[in-house]
Amino acid sequence: MTHPLRRRFHAPLLALLVLLTGCGTSNLNLVSGESQRGAYSWAQQVELGQEADQQIIAQYGLLDNAQVNQYVEAVGEQVLAQAFEAIQRSVDAGEVEVDATALAEIRATPFAFRVLDSPVVNAFALPGGFTYVTRGLLSHLDNEAQLAMVLGHEIGHVLAQHSSRQAFEAQRGQLGLIGAAIAGSIIDPRLGQGILDYGSTGAQLLFLKYGRDAEREADRAGVAYSEFAGYDAAQAAAFFRSLERIQEAAGASLPSFLSTHPDPAEREQTIPELAAQYNGTNVGEEGFLSEIEGIVLGENPREGFVENGVFYHPELAFRFSVPQGWSTSNTRQAVTLSEPNGAAALQFTFASQSSAQAAAQELRSAQGVTVTGQQTFSANGNPGVLLEGQAAQQTGTVSFLAGYIEYGGNVYELVGLTTPQNYRSYGASFDRTIRSFARLTDSRYLNRQPVRLEVVEAPRTAAFSTFLQGRPEVPGLDAAGLAILNQVDLNETIPAGTLLKLPR
Ligand SMILES: [Zn+2]
Repeated sequence: MTHPLRRRFHAPLLALLVLLTGCGTSNLNLVSGESQRGAYSWAQQVELGQEADQQIIAQYGLLDNAQVNQYVEAVGEQVLAQAFEAIQRSVDAGEVEVDATALAEIRATPFAFRVLDSPVVNAFALPGGFTYVTRGLLSHLDNEAQLAMVLGHEIGHVLAQHSSRQAFEAQRGQLGLIGAAIAGSIIDPRLGQGILDYGSTGAQLLFLKYGRDAEREADRAGVAYSEFAGYDAAQAAAFFRSLERIQEAAGASLPSFLSTHPDPAEREQTIPELAAQYNGTNVGEEGFLSEIEGIVLGENPREGFVENGVFYHPELAFRFSVPQGWSTSNTRQAVTLSEPNGAAALQFTFASQSSAQAAAQELRSAQGVTVTGQQTFSANGNPGVLLEGQAAQQTGTVSFLAGYIEYGGNVYELVGLTTPQNYRSYGASFDRTIRSFARLTDSRYLNRQPVRLEVVEAPRTAAFSTFLQGRPEVPGLDAAGLAILNQVDLNETIPAGTLLKLPR
């Protein structure tokens, strides 16, 4: 969790479906040069992109580093310019026939290249020219050529208008497969998972082939555009090898049939083959590494972390206990504590009201809510209100214990939820957690700093693992993970003078 956001987005991209029209429209696929049926006009795609962009930013946050943002933007703009040059050459040579007005409209659209402040390794695009990479992805790249190819791939999705086509196909299949909004993350479906959850498995299967074709088209575009910008796109193969290793390490993440993306192993082979048709030579290793040096590696403890059963938030200076054995998920807007079997959960977030009483009143008056008990209390000196009751939800009635606590100019909301049958077992845990909320004063936690990426020239020839000795541990990234991040094996012999990305 980061800053007190007063807005919450409950039903994110699903709302985008509303715009779907019956018969669709004709879109110009600038990658293939062909017309295709799509759900949205280009102008609608830009509108959808802008809306979803705000939600993505609210949910994940932009990297707070102007230099890195500008750098990624500059590389993206360079590749984009080459994409349009290439399209224009095809038009001039009479290889493709495109509607000049449609091309001009797309060409005049400003593109956004954003860096999200997330440790997850991902890149994706929204319709209308919005492309994203995470800081997790940047730290896993080794050079500018890899970045250029990844950005070229996302540009390819946008210019091929894949979201619009996907939405049109999805609508014909009558399902909410809403990869429609997120045009295929290049890599790791986790960032879009919440959205994909809305689609039925049958739907996903139905369009599996289609998704893969779109990914391959984007790969072809990514290689071509980055090569035209002078880069050696074959470099990206090593990055796809890293992705494969990340997936292996994650074990059974998503069943592979749910993934619409080509196997990273396939890409590892096809990318150099595609790249061989061009003659880009720029790798840009040193420049790239100096640009990303200093970015946060792994989870950022400034935004909250769990240690020995306590959640600490250094920036907002509070702490509360986590029930034993429960897992924690910390996003920009909420911290969710979950019982291992999913029998109960506690959500911690910001209330939008200016007092605990007002927040409690809001909950009391919410539709379907029955309050059976209310009392004021003090959470270690911070005034609060506790509400107990039940709420009617789509899936049935749930019992809750909600605590509203005033602290540091904010009102915090902690809501424990479970079934009425289970409330007897979990109500006491909810109560203990809510009452454990306290000001954080211990400087060991208040001053906790993130681990950052340092670029180091290997001082000797030795196994990669030996260079990790004496380095800090990275939250969420072990030694094997750091080897993957460096695109080497843990025990691989690293020649002296090799540039390494190490935690500092
Ligand atoms: Zn993709």
